[in-house]
Amino acid sequence: MQLRLQAPTPLVAITLDPALPPIWTKLEFLNPSGSTKDRIARFILEKAWRQGRINTRTTVVEASSGSTSIAMALACAQLGIRFIAVMPEGVSNERVLMIKAYGGEIRLAPKDGGIEGAIRITEHIAAEDPTVFLPRQFSNTDNAQAHRFLTAREIIDEIPSGRADAVVSGVGTGGTLVGLYEGLCDAGCQPVPVFARPVNFTREADVECCSFSCRIPGVVECVSTIFNPDNLPSLETIEVSDSEALATTRELMRKGFPVGPSSGLNYRAAQLYLAAHPGRDCIVVTVFPDRMERYFTTDLFQPFR
Ligand code: PMP
Repeated sequence: MQLRLQAPTPLVAITLDPALPPIWTKLEFLNPSGSTKDRIARFILEKAWRQGRINTRTTVVEASSGSTSIAMALACAQLGIRFIAVMPEGVSNERVLMIKAYGGEIRLAPKDGGIEGAIRITEHIAAEDPTVFLPRQFSNTDNAQAHRFLTAREIIDEIPSGRADAVVSGVGTGGTLVGLYEGLCDAGCQPVPVFARPVNFTREADVECCSFSCRIPGVVECVSTIFNPDNLPSLETIEVSDSEALATTRELMRKGFPVGPSSGLNYRAAQLYLAAHPGRDCIVVTVFPDRMERYFTTDLFQPFR
């Protein structure tokens, strides 16, 4: 059983600063629902289907403030399965409309409970209904496995040198960073895993529960059990101010990459890594997780209003 034929996303070498080597970037926003979360939706649901744990009488319920719910809604539509997204109140209308367009349903969780409150609601729904399947993106190791077996293998196939010296990503669930690191190690590389950590110097009072910065959605702390720094001994953390991440995102847009704030964060952190490790032959890999259209109502577009 395969959900759909999925073409590999392009891996392109992007140079914004000619003083630095190009950064090898996986254009994950070109996945069918517009984000890298199509990887985990497809991998988790296909595996559960093969194992007989889900079928067309199942209801899939997931807590997410955006991309994962949109990807799950599309994957469930393709499989003919009911889908309910549990999202903290205040999530942008664009996201709600996309989920509904794919046939998904929305349950809003109180804003002050954040994503943890939304996760608790999914547990309650599952406890009352045995036909419910919880993908549990924040604790399901198949999240990272999706990137290990799908995304990382594509990178190895596409990168001309067949080698990566560092892999850079922001962390929400941590599935991307952990999975890419493991997949590149499987292929014989010894990449340094680099955690791109946004730092919020403005609007501190507005920072939502678990977010490093409310201006970089999708990159959160304190909920995931997948990302454990103790299991990544060579981990480096690079801090990027959220304003710099947004400025880099806008620069990427003008170069033809219509991406969201976490892409600017990842690219800027990759630049800072390269600047700290001089040498023209350092090969750094990162990802652009999602698209700019999801952020019209956020700070990313503030200068254009
Ligand atoms: N960027 C965006 C837009 C996201 O939605 C997420 C995940 N919520 C991430 C980055 C981080 O990816 P991961 O969950 O694999 O750590």
